[in-house]
Amino acid sequence: MRWFDTHCHLDRMPEGIKPRLAMQYAQAVGVERLVVPGVSGAPLHAARLLAISGVEVAWGVHPYYIGNCKHIGSKRDPWSRARYTPVAIGECGFDRRSRFSIEEQKEAFVWQLNLATRHRLPVIIHLVGHYQLAYDILTAMPEVPTAVLHSWSGSPEMAKRFVAAGAFVSISGGHLRRPEKLVQLLTALPLSSLLLETDAPDMAAPSWSGFCNEPAALPEIGAAVAEKAGIAVEKLCEILYNNSVRIFGQGKQKQNG
Ligand SMILES: [Zn+2]
Repeated sequence: MRWFDTHCHLDRMPEGIKPRLAMQYAQAVGVERLVVPGVSGAPLHAARLLAISGVEVAWGVHPYYIGNCKHIGSKRDPWSRARYTPVAIGECGFDRRSRFSIEEQKEAFVWQLNLATRHRLPVIIHLVGHYQLAYDILTAMPEVPTAVLHSWSGSPEMAKRFVAAGAFVSISGGHLRRPEKLVQLLTALPLSSLLLETDAPDMAAPSWSGFCNEPAALPEIGAAVAEKAGIAVEKLCEILYNNSVRIFGQGKQKQNG
């Protein structure tokens, strides 16, 4: 089986956990590829991450880090100095716990959606609250980019509406902490709309015994999700891997310059 971790902060692992080694452990258990989202622009040491086999890198500003990014509103591609082309925009969106106002979060979100549309890239969306607002903004785009709802925390009904608008819903180990809600979500959504992620180093699955969450935890999350979905793990793995490839492309992105 080959797995695809669609959301892993390999650049923000605790001290002592080297990204290259974490990816080697992950590959040893079948995690072939992963995407590192941006939280305050480019991931840390993006060029070094891109040198690791199977690792791809996004560019984005999380609703917590809007104040750290001077690019918001700019007409230029913000990653030109980072010397790589992102495989996705994000993570971006809304978080009701952010110290930034809804207006500030909205400005950053809309700007990133436009970047995604302009470059025909998928957008990784982080939402804690404000689900309807994000839906309204996304679906009002003249060209709606393919959205990945990372570690979805809203209702199954709202997830269904996003999926009808072409979005994908990513399941993390955090969902295994609320198994009844996960079953409702899996019942509401087709397998063709699902993805898997670790969101490492956070969001460890309850069964994970490692020092912190790691991409190597993905097969364990996948097996537990397959059980909840009532399908063979091999089948879930194959469908979700193929969904991920449809969104993030065939493989290694190019570095510029
Ligand atoms: Zn994240």
